[in-house]
Amino acid sequence: MNASSIIRKTASDLRVTPNFCDYEGERHRFSWAAVEAELTTGKPEINIGWQAVDRHRALANKSALRFLARDASPRTLTYGQLAAQTNRFCNVLRALGIAKGDRVFILAGRIPELYIALLGGLKFGAVVSPLFSAFGPEPIITRVNLGGATVLLTTDALFERKIAPWRARMPTLKHVLLVGEDGGPTASPGTLDFSRLMWDASDSFDHLPTDLEDPALLHFTSGTTGTPKGAVHVHGAAITHWATGRYALDLHPDDIYWCTADPGWVTGTSYGIIAPLLHGVTSVVDREEFDAERWYGILRDEAVSVWYTAPTAIRMLMRAGADAAAKYAFPQLRFVASVGEPLNPEAVRWGKDVLGLPIHDNWWQTETGGIMIANTPAFDIKPGSMGRPLPGVDAAIIQRTGDGGISIVDEPGKQGELALRRGWPSMFRGYLNEDARYHKCFIGDWYLTGDLAQRDADGYYWFVGRTDDVIKSAGHLIGPFEVESALMEHPAVAEAGVIGKPDPVLGETVKAFVSLNRGFEPDEALCMELLAHARKRLGAAVAPKEIAFVAQLPHTRSGKIMRRLLKARELGLAEGDTSTLEGAG
Ligand code: AMP
Repeated sequence: MNASSIIRKTASDLRVTPNFCDYEGERHRFSWAAVEAELTTGKPEINIGWQAVDRHRALANKSALRFLARDASPRTLTYGQLAAQTNRFCNVLRALGIAKGDRVFILAGRIPELYIALLGGLKFGAVVSPLFSAFGPEPIITRVNLGGATVLLTTDALFERKIAPWRARMPTLKHVLLVGEDGGPTASPGTLDFSRLMWDASDSFDHLPTDLEDPALLHFTSGTTGTPKGAVHVHGAAITHWATGRYALDLHPDDIYWCTADPGWVTGTSYGIIAPLLHGVTSVVDREEFDAERWYGILRDEAVSVWYTAPTAIRMLMRAGADAAAKYAFPQLRFVASVGEPLNPEAVRWGKDVLGLPIHDNWWQTETGGIMIANTPAFDIKPGSMGRPLPGVDAAIIQRTGDGGISIVDEPGKQGELALRRGWPSMFRGYLNEDARYHKCFIGDWYLTGDLAQRDADGYYWFVGRTDDVIKSAGHLIGPFEVESALMEHPAVAEAGVIGKPDPVLGETVKAFVSLNRGFEPDEALCMELLAHARKRLGAAVAPKEIAFVAQLPHTRSGKIMRRLLKARELGLAEGDTSTLEGAG
């Protein structure tokens, strides 16, 4: 990093006085207890749904969420309407006999009913899990069963394709609530019509008290092996969402805010729903997928002032070319942030050239529940860096010692594992039903993130890579094991090994290496068949984009597929330590 490439903040970058100007001072003064007291006004209870919606009595007529869709006129829910609708949903849950702590799953695109059910479920004290609607049936069945879902809210179209044929494989599901097209009525055997239930329910409800440690949200994330992990988050997480909305997104009351992430991923919930509502701002929600012209149009026409998006999206905008952007102006836009994967320095500078603003990269993960390290208004940006730990967050670069402990790396520029001192409010409180897996993430006071990073002499953190084999494609974390398992269901497949292959736009794409059972020919037709099989089972966001046939996959002596070696071979890199390779030595 040479000093000339630092992006210095100028007056035009800061169109309002930022919430956060004095990095060292604020870190020094900060305490989570003080933020908690501010948010809860000293009461011992906290409920994300109530705090995000009902607390804002004075904002009853202000737009909370503004829903955009290609073929429908925009629909706005004010804070008052959102309070009434979420109350109705609480009463629906009560009438169905749902109890506090029961799991309510949601599988839907970014439609108003998703937001109502999520916030209503939280207000009711249920544990809510929003699933990505582009998942195929296999990831859905796995997660519904791991989470022991009692209620599933989905749309009739998703139900027909992804739930109905497999309903018998989800025995915990007692109630499936269906939303018809455009929120209208619907009927399918064995389901309940959401619109009817809501119509019949009262819009007043005294929210059930929840406390800081009551579970609120379940977000699934992927590891290298085994099933996805259900990260449990508590109501107290709202304290982090609120603080980080202020420090890392610079939310001010008059902002029009747009987070492009889907609530099926943690960013779309923590920062697409909770943080902006806690701050009482107006959020834009677009139902459609990425489209450069559409996105530029939304930024301009909705007068978005704060925009939180992802590196893949920024790279796609860059690819769409300067001409696409030149037709638009964004006079209201004043702060842009991104998360989810490394943000290339060129992308930060593209922001400055095309949007007139640098892009503030920040870092966090499902387990941390909220932004931990960020480029903020309080300091200059070093393009390519994730920024500095926020107030209330202690980060370190560590190395594991042979005796099961850790040592902290003080030396700037030295690579190690990124760790966070435990204790921030949105820290996950467990992996559902997997205590041992949870406890393995901690050594002493430190939570080990599984990311490799380094810190420079100015305290900026730089992402290096992962310590494990998970894949990041278009910002979505994909577990290779889930993909391998789906491939192996096909009768032709003897074994599969899955890696992330670098991609200039998506970060990585999923590539599978497959060995075949006797009697199957490794030809183009089979390759297409396997790609289609995986896509049908897993959904397009998770399925491999490429399949290569191999006679045999490399294994360790203990029988594990050596994905690291597959990747090194794919990239033409040195194969590293192969002493554990089956047949070696
Ligand atoms: P997820 O739990 O799906 O949100 O994925 C979290 C992972 O995404 C992190 O552990 C990192 O590997 C990666 N990630 C998130 N933000 C960044 C960033 N700003 N730069 C590089 N990698 C990131």
